[in-house]
Amino acid sequence: MDRKEKLYLVIPCYNEQEVLHETEHRLTVKLNQMISDGLISDESRMVFVDDGSKDSTWNIIKDMHEKNGLVLGIKSSRNRGHQNTLLAGLMTVKDECDMAISMDADLQDDIEVLDEFVKKYYDGCEIVYGVRSARKTDTFFKKFTAEGFYKVMKWMGADIVFNHADYRLMSSRALNELAKYKEVNLFLRGIVPMIGFKTDVVMYERHERFAGESKYPLKKMLAFAMDGITSLSIKPIRFITSLGVILFALSVILLIYFIVGYFLGRTAPGWATIVVSIWGIGGLQLLAIGVIGEYIGKIYMETKERPRYIIEEFLK
Ligand code: UDP
Ligand code: MG
Repeated sequence: MDRKEKLYLVIPCYNEQEVLHETEHRLTVKLNQMISDGLISDESRMVFVDDGSKDSTWNIIKDMHEKNGLVLGIKSSRNRGHQNTLLAGLMTVKDECDMAISMDADLQDDIEVLDEFVKKYYDGCEIVYGVRSARKTDTFFKKFTAEGFYKVMKWMGADIVFNHADYRLMSSRALNELAKYKEVNLFLRGIVPMIGFKTDVVMYERHERFAGESKYPLKKMLAFAMDGITSLSIKPIRFITSLGVILFALSVILLIYFIVGYFLGRTAPGWATIVVSIWGIGGLQLLAIGVIGEYIGKIYMETKERPRYIIEEFLK
């Protein structure tokens, strides 16, 4: 291959002092192998992004940067969470590299498939998604909650790639398009598919964390899922509207039922009017809230100022 482009690995790190040296070692071996295979440029780098860690993560990154020419470091001013840190890293390097691959510091995502990512990039893909083929090492609980997460997201109308976390290659061009999504409520897995272009997936098996512990406890996972749903979809508002319509329809049916019952002489006095008004008014109220919500949803989507189109090619 005669094209040798610059690959940057972008790695968010929060309290990762136990894993950093091992990660650096494994990635150095891997990058050097890819460079000597002629797959990527020798100006390729790994970029550690410190997410305001409380342990010695940043000191280790500084130290690695001094001793290892392949290592770059970025420091976030405080802890902002995985998604924001990832974005900070990607946006900082987007014009320095030709392609960037985001990955976790614990190397749970198999680094042996890095070559495949890059090959797909040379085939013309602007975005390549890493997809987990199996979750053998995840506990039943993690697997259940994580897969449930993807299903609920799909159901809520968010267009996300099943079993794809943030192990992903993006070309410099795709990153520049991503920069146009100005939203503060960031859910990268939902936004990146909106960019479009030619994309592909790479399958891999997820390993266990080799040291340290997960920085994503259930509480953070739930908050993450909630954020994902509400930042991508206004379906929850639609549910309220539908519920209102159903309740109101039900009250009309009840009314007819009671009128028929009245003529057949089967009703207790007072009962019909109370039940019908409870359901009718309840339904109308929900409907009204839903309609107001619909407009708030529109305002919400407008405030995101998302790009309305992205041009892939211009033949002139
Ligand atoms: N991470 C981060 N900020 C946070 C939490 C996590 O940058 O507030 C990073 C973390 O250092 C790791 C990646 O996000 O590189 C994924 O976290 P972790 O491996 O703990 O999550 P899990 O694999 O258990 O879902
Ligand atoms: Mg992990």
